Amino acid sequence: MEFGNYKEVLCARATDSKIQEVSQDGGIVTALFSYALEEGIIEGAVVAGPSDEPWVPKPVIAMSKEDLIDAAGTKYTHSPNVWALKEAVRQYGLEKVGTVGTPCQIMGIRKMQVYPFSTRFVADKLKLLIGIFCMENFPFASLETFVEEKMKVNMDDVTKMDIGKGKFFAYTGEEDNKIPLKQTHGYEQASCNVCPDYVAELADVSTGSVGTPDGWSTVFTRTDDGDSIFKAAVDAGVIETKPMDENVKPGLGLLSKLSKGKKDKNKKEAERRIKMGLPIPAGFDNFYKY
Ligand SMILES: Cc1cc2nc3c(=O)[nH]c(=O)nc-3n(C[C@H](O)[C@H](O)[C@H](O)COP(=O)(O)OP(=O)(O)OC[C@H]3O[C@@H](n4cnc5c(N)ncnc54)[C@H](O)[C@@H]3O)c2cc1C
Ligand code: SF4
Repeated sequence: MEFGNYKEVLCARATDSKIQEVSQDGGIVTALFSYALEEGIIEGAVVAGPSDEPWVPKPVIAMSKEDLIDAAGTKYTHSPNVWALKEAVRQYGLEKVGTVGTPCQIMGIRKMQVYPFSTRFVADKLKLLIGIFCMENFPFASLETFVEEKMKVNMDDVTKMDIGKGKFFAYTGEEDNKIPLKQTHGYEQASCNVCPDYVAELADVSTGSVGTPDGWSTVFTRTDDGDSIFKAAVDAGVIETKPMDENVKPGLGLLSKLSKGKKDKNKKEAERRIKMGLPIPAGFDNFYKY
């Protein structure tokens, strides 16, 4: 299946206006972790927080709604959140940990849970994995190069970055700086060209912007825990939902097309690399199929 296994798919957004203001899309990640913290489902969540350098994310262990709000929004470069999981358990002493990650990061965590080499006491403390959809990611130097050199925008002035409708946007508040996404090709991380997962198929809950209108998110609930935590957050009024039907535009058709497109394109690249004798991560084959 191009979407992986899931229980339910919905159009959703956070009801809190403070979260809506700072979040990338519907604020699902920030709202769901805030709810899980308040309810004691988790004691902390590893998220991509700000660092001293603009747009360079630093994994932080968020222990409050304020910490989560500080870390909201997408940074289009790697945030090694998985790294900080050990710290959350060992240094912070947390027994119940949440984290957010791109599909590859969620895959890494699931591998760690199955084969917990030197992470035995970390793996069983992970209680809520939120995956974010991801077509590709950029090393920071690449991101900086195309924003500053191609778009002629100073990274310090950028308030939000976004990808949508075939364009890369770097908002500065004054004008909508954008370039066709095609012009960012070649800047992406090389491993993204063999990546087989678009919608974070192994997460407890996965979410992204594609499929739903601006300010809303597409959400898949996948595991029993993910489904029940998400439903409880909806019942508590923290998240509002709409059925993912024909009234929601652009809808699941576009998401399906993008997910299949990613799998097909990257499978071809994987086959090309295999022919050249280059290694492909184990298990990827299962994901290219749908
Ligand atoms: C590299 C990248 C590519 C993406 N590509 C797509 C796409 O093709 N299609 C699509 O629909 N959605 C894509 N997304 C997801 C989308 O941009 C939003 O992250 C998602 O919709 C969640 O929005 P939200 O409003 O619920 O989250 P928010 O409430 O704004 O919270 C976002 C959370 O993600 C964390 N985060 C931010 N950047 C990173 C990062 N680089 N790595 C790990 N965690 C991070 C933040 O710390 C925060 O906790 C991409 C995200 C990333 C990081
Ligand atoms: S495209 Fe795949 S490998 Fe690249 S960052 Fe996204 S999930 Fe990870």
